[in-house]
Amino acid sequence: MRYDVAVIGGGPSGAVAAAELSKAGVSTILIERNLDNVKPCGGAIPLGLIEEFTIPSYLVEKKLSRMKARSPKGRIIDMRMPNGYVGMVRREKFDQYLRSEAEKAGAAVIEGLVTSIQPSGRGGYVLTTLNNKVPPIEADRIIGADGANSKTADELHFPPNELKVIAMQQRFKYTPAIQKFSDIVEIWFDGEVSPDFYGWIFPKADHLAIGTGTEDHRHNIKALQKRFVEKIGITDTPYLDEAAKIPMKPRKSFTAEKSILVGDAAGLVTPANGEGIFFAMRSGKLGAQAMIEHLKKNTPLRNYETEFRKLYAPIFFGLEVLQAMYYRNDRLRESFVAICADDDVQRITFDSYLYKKMVPAPWSTQMKIFSKNIYHLIKGR
Ligand SMILES: Cc1cc2nc3c(=O)[nH]c(=O)nc-3n(C[C@H](O)[C@H](O)[C@H](O)COP(=O)(O)OP(=O)(O)OC[C@H]3O[C@@H](n4cnc5c(N)ncnc54)[C@H](O)[C@@H]3O)c2cc1C
Repeated sequence: MRYDVAVIGGGPSGAVAAAELSKAGVSTILIERNLDNVKPCGGAIPLGLIEEFTIPSYLVEKKLSRMKARSPKGRIIDMRMPNGYVGMVRREKFDQYLRSEAEKAGAAVIEGLVTSIQPSGRGGYVLTTLNNKVPPIEADRIIGADGANSKTADELHFPPNELKVIAMQQRFKYTPAIQKFSDIVEIWFDGEVSPDFYGWIFPKADHLAIGTGTEDHRHNIKALQKRFVEKIGITDTPYLDEAAKIPMKPRKSFTAEKSILVGDAAGLVTPANGEGIFFAMRSGKLGAQAMIEHLKKNTPLRNYETEFRKLYAPIFFGLEVLQAMYYRNDRLRESFVAICADDDVQRITFDSYLYKKMVPAPWSTQMKIFSKNIYHLIKGR
């Protein structure tokens, strides 16, 4: 089997890339290790993504425009999104849908765990899969979309994925005791729940997804999750426990001469909020577009990385600063939640979140927010 491009990994980044390539007439194979994969994930996606990728409404189980931020001392700030909502999807259905779109566009979608990528001798690559489940595949170019522990990145010698958070989530079927959480997103900024990230309660159609994260190897994620569930007051037994790494720093480089990395494989999850689905799909699309240009006009694949960084580096930087400033201890987290009470802060935060555009605020608003920041930081509340 010989293809122009092999996309390794059939999550959101890989599926979008494969669909985009196939629509342009590029012969593409998408190789996914497990077509029934249930990716551990909160499945929260912004309205901008739903619109751009025309996600069908049956996949969006909840459209939530209210959010509660909870401080270490238990102070609760009710936040509202007047101009949109966060959509809740279930990854087992969402990923399958995206892969089916790639298949419809003409991509070959197969199951197999890629274990090695070797030069082919004809300027391309030969891919082999575990136990030779699939006969060796030849491809001229490679897109690595195989997640935080990317085998593609290792095989093709990309620089390492540096910062990894480990996140755990448990799913609880609704019972009368937890029904009250079914229409609102809750975010807990609390050192007992996470000393360096946050805890979340995301409602889905028939269950609650509750999870927390922490920097890899620094704290016991299971103990943090257990404490979180106890603090919420849930005594039910979860029907699913899931955990995975979140790479929250772009690799130093995620393009090479004949290959690129997209999504988590490239480290494209924003700090502070751990949002990765949007950036996975955007990078899949931008990466595929650069690949199409490259195949047609011999332009460098590096154009993809340049474009991605131009569009999103300010967001990554802003959120990195926010995390470094406020997620260090409970006193700072208390100040952070207090600042969230401000209407302008909420408007700017949500407008930026929904469409991933830094929203400029008038000078007077910036000054007001700056002064409030200083006030709350000094007061510690
Ligand atoms: C607990 C948790 C909660 C999260 N919650 C959210 C959230 O609410 N909102 C949000 O935006 N982001 C969230 N994220 C981040 C988000 O899940 C990821 O950023 C996103 O899934 C990245 O998509 P991807 O396609 O790049 O990688 P993945 O979704 O990881 O897909 C990679 C695919 O590659 C396959 N694969 C791996 N290795 C191979 C191989 N060798 N051969 C073939 N196939 C392979 C895997 O089976 C997988 O299907 C969360 C992450 C975690 C861990």
